[in-house]
Amino acid sequence: MDIVSRFLKERTLSEEEFVLLLQQSGDAAVRETLRREALALCRNYYGNQVYIRGLIEFTNYCKNNCYYCGIRRDNPHVRRYRLSTEEILSCCREGYGLGYRTFVLQGGEDPYFTDERMTELIRQIREEYPDCAITLSIGEREKDSYRKFREAGADRYLLRHETADAAHYRSLHPEGMNFSHRIQCLYDLKELGYQVGAGFMVGSPGQKLEHMAKDLLFLQKLQPEMVGIGPFIPHHDTRYAKEQAGSVEMTLFLLSVIRILLPKVLLPATTALGTMDPVGREKGLLAGANVIMPNLSPEKNRKDYSLYDNKICTGEEAAQSIASLRKRVESVGCQVVTDRGDAVR
Ligand code: SF4
Repeated sequence: MDIVSRFLKERTLSEEEFVLLLQQSGDAAVRETLRREALALCRNYYGNQVYIRGLIEFTNYCKNNCYYCGIRRDNPHVRRYRLSTEEILSCCREGYGLGYRTFVLQGGEDPYFTDERMTELIRQIREEYPDCAITLSIGEREKDSYRKFREAGADRYLLRHETADAAHYRSLHPEGMNFSHRIQCLYDLKELGYQVGAGFMVGSPGQKLEHMAKDLLFLQKLQPEMVGIGPFIPHHDTRYAKEQAGSVEMTLFLLSVIRILLPKVLLPATTALGTMDPVGREKGLLAGANVIMPNLSPEKNRKDYSLYDNKICTGEEAAQSIASLRKRVESVGCQVVTDRGDAVR
């Protein structure tokens, strides 16, 4: 049996076999076979529904210095901002009115947002919006902090593992950031009952097919409820400014592979995919994705949350442009729904 048929039958492969499968990402017939299977699985568990998440980028301060990131600590050209509690609540209010039932609080690892401040913020959102899911994406913390946030009302946590290979991780992050701590955080979050999101950049500097094969096996082991992947896009103020961006084609291929590997997973068609290709997210939905995360942050701050160059964040990207988002989603036979959009158990 060839490797594609084996993957479709068994829904998993060994590391070496995943490499062989990934080597076939350039083969249009293989891509189409996996895409069709991924789409069928997605329809089976989620119908044609697409869940929307209102993304609130509430601080671009970060104590870390990830080599690829535009808002890393040592980039002096970033105009830093923090949203006040009132500004964050006002984003939620606007989002709720537009039909969003998940708020994603995303930020750098900003020491200003102590456990106490975060807990108070989560409590206020939980009190005002009992029918909404609260997702956090604020990086690595200790288990005790995650526990406090969970008790205050947070439901989900996004923490991309970035790479499942320790040496590759070291090449993307400076000393002081620790691969095993990051992985431990993901297991802690699982244990605390969060719906957990892992993920990685496709085509990050130094990434090989072997690394992606490890990523797939790691995802299979972790069994996250969500997986965020998007093409690597260089930022001009980083050491990787001149690196090539990751490919849309490989990202779409991996979306299909991940849907087949974890059929019930929540899989965003990411902003990075939409940045690389004007219809990248539509293609993502046809490759097995079922989530879109438009930006609910205040217009004045959006450009300052620049993780990579040319990130789309205004105009049609704004969460407020819900009508055009609906049309885009409908153009590929799907439907935006007003729903918390929890993972199918
Ligand atoms: S990737 Fe995240 S943790 Fe790393 S520097 Fe950027 S915002 Fe900070």
